[in-house]
Amino acid sequence: MAELNFKQELTSVFGQPVAENPTQAMIEAAYRHHNLDWRYLTIEVAPEDLPAAVQGMRAMNFRGGNLTIPHKVAVIPLLDGLSEAASLMGAVNCIVRDGDKLIGENTDGKGFVESLRGVTDPSGKRVVILGAGGAARAIAVELALAGASNFTIVNRSASRGESLVELLNTKVRELADVHAEFVNWEGDYDIPEGTDIVINATSIGLFPDVDARIALNTTTLSPNMVVADVIPNPPETRLVRDARKAGCHVLDGLGMLVNQGVIGFKLWTGVDPDAGVMRKALEDVFGA
Ligand code: NDP
Repeated sequence: MAELNFKQELTSVFGQPVAENPTQAMIEAAYRHHNLDWRYLTIEVAPEDLPAAVQGMRAMNFRGGNLTIPHKVAVIPLLDGLSEAASLMGAVNCIVRDGDKLIGENTDGKGFVESLRGVTDPSGKRVVILGAGGAARAIAVELALAGASNFTIVNRSASRGESLVELLNTKVRELADVHAEFVNWEGDYDIPEGTDIVINATSIGLFPDVDARIALNTTTLSPNMVVADVIPNPPETRLVRDARKAGCHVLDGLGMLVNQGVIGFKLWTGVDPDAGVMRKALEDVFGA
């Protein structure tokens, strides 16, 4: 008789709210596809309970997990170490077990860069990023490390925008040849001529506010630009539609979500997962 084993390896996402986070569908589809007896649990964790939840990961021998809003910064002092990227960004979206240590990684920006490489090489590119929150920081740092040279950070609140510009022009510049400037977002923004890549890294357009409009003069989008939206739900945002109409190369938020999932999956399991299976699982969720 074959050896019996009723114990699965555990991974998770902690967030609040978290019920609409679709990552479980994508990761568990890949676990099944690769015959891994693993689970990915979607767990609501209140900010004040995060220390206990991380302690629980240790006690129950979780193999790793993701963090989403509002835990990406607060988790840092609860971990045993950080990757170089997570340390630069000051945010962790992925925990990886290394022996008895829990190490913080950030796969958001790497996932973005991976999906961008499908349409263009970031090297030497001029980039406009709308937004300066966690997603924008992760994308900007990884794009700079991948060789993008000029960044315009457009943000509503000056404090977050200026903080990202400072990060790029100081710590990131020690590692990469990069120049960044801040633009305070007032009224409709005109994309400067010569821009290669435009990224919406705000939460504008996220379900349920699917018709929310980004304050952007869409007549300044041109066919030589790559336009990317981080919003995964729904993938077909208003910006994605406008950019397609303008003839731009368009990347939706599912590409970033799949690619950051691919990186996390490999870090946890050591298996390089089939990205097509993961994208299909998300498309099924969103009816895309
Ligand atoms: P944060 O809360 O850290 O940042 C939100 C950003 O959006 C800030 O720059 C904020 O500006 C800006 N913003 C929000 N509302 C408006 C508005 N009405 N007008 C102008 N600016 C606005 O969030 P995150 O960076 O963590 O997440 C941003 C989005 O990225 C989310 O929708 C998330 O779902 C998505 N995401 C997607 C991933 C993927 O894999 N596809 C991975 C990670 C995130 P201000 O500073 O002025 O408040």
